[in-house]
Amino acid sequence: MNGLAQKAYLEYKIRVKFKFIKAVKPDHIKDTDWQDWSWQLRNSLKNENDFAKFFELSDSEKKAFASGSELFNIRTTPYYASLADSKNPMDPIRRIFMPHEKELFDPKQSQLDPLGERKSANNPVPRIIHRYSDRVLFLVTDICSVYCRYCTRKHFTATDQAFIKNDEYENALKYIRSKTGLREIILSGGDPLTLSDEKLDRILFDLRRIEHVEIIRIGSRMPVVSPQRITDDLVQIIRRHKPVFMMTHFNHPRELTFESASAIEKCVDNGIPVMNQMVLLNGVNNHAAIVQALSRRLLFLRAKPYYMFQCDPSIGTDYLRTSIDDSLAIQKELWGHLSGLAMPTLSVDIPNGGGKMYYAPDFQNLISAEKRNFIGWDGVESEYINPEASVILKPLDYEMYLPEWDEVKNSKNR
Ligand code: SF4
Repeated sequence: MNGLAQKAYLEYKIRVKFKFIKAVKPDHIKDTDWQDWSWQLRNSLKNENDFAKFFELSDSEKKAFASGSELFNIRTTPYYASLADSKNPMDPIRRIFMPHEKELFDPKQSQLDPLGERKSANNPVPRIIHRYSDRVLFLVTDICSVYCRYCTRKHFTATDQAFIKNDEYENALKYIRSKTGLREIILSGGDPLTLSDEKLDRILFDLRRIEHVEIIRIGSRMPVVSPQRITDDLVQIIRRHKPVFMMTHFNHPRELTFESASAIEKCVDNGIPVMNQMVLLNGVNNHAAIVQALSRRLLFLRAKPYYMFQCDPSIGTDYLRTSIDDSLAIQKELWGHLSGLAMPTLSVDIPNGGGKMYYAPDFQNLISAEKRNFIGWDGVESEYINPEASVILKPLDYEMYLPEWDEVKNSKNR
């Protein structure tokens, strides 16, 4: 074997180790249709009849379908459906998209708007959520390619509003232009990648012309649910409007198929950073073994495992929520065994729009002005002794950066 062949063989071995396996296409579907994201959307499974063609439905699932409009909208692409077990209702991926009668049970906690996005202070104009000082969510559509049962934005998603109307779009842009403290715009919804290339191009173009906008993010489940959407044309459009970050939402290692792995690599190869936000879900991924499997595969594909969210108490999600203690135990088990690159940050959105908070394991067992004592993740006991306060200096050139820092701190008022 020559050097190049040896290298290719080693790469192949690594890929095989992680098993990015192709989704199994049903025989009756043409390959050209299967590879076409708009076909996947047009042929989504939306009702009991559609699902019954692919799945042996349980009584609980049938009861959920029978409850009709009481339930959050239902949808998945044939591609995503093919990743789930057709016979076992407890299959993790199936639990993400299949409706269940437990969505209708009396909840322990149930909020239509757990993130407080509808409060007027956070929703200054339609389709804009301005909760944090330097960034806004821009809800460009309410349509998704899958309606995840755990969705936190049930007050907006799948409410038949579709692509933002022209006047709302212009008003949203006007708001973003007027707030010069805004640095990041997060395209969300719904799923922005359900829009056509032309519409996305126009939105990115309009945002890029606003001088104070530094970073644009696209939050999307399409790389998971219809990775065919990540076409060469799309990545060229996104690349033109850089810096644009792709925020994916993989929740389980089995979602990382050959197709979705290729979609991630296409983004990264074209200079589009990929960050993943997972949600810890009961009976889906709430085990350290699963989180590490997802995180290592993502990192290998050069997607940063970014957040590990506590599931919000959105309507109908009680049966999918884990306890915070369960999540902390998972995080603590992972600590030290995953590098910082592979470790997602555990984050809780405080209900009623209290904002995000992060958890990190606390290894301190004594705190004083002079020192801190620790017992590390694998039991090493040690201390960090502080230098004398009198020797602590400010950097020589810090004043150069003060005006910029003041601007950042006052972002929301500008
Ligand atoms: S893709 Fe996102 S917005 Fe759409 S249903 Fe799933 S979680 Fe909600």
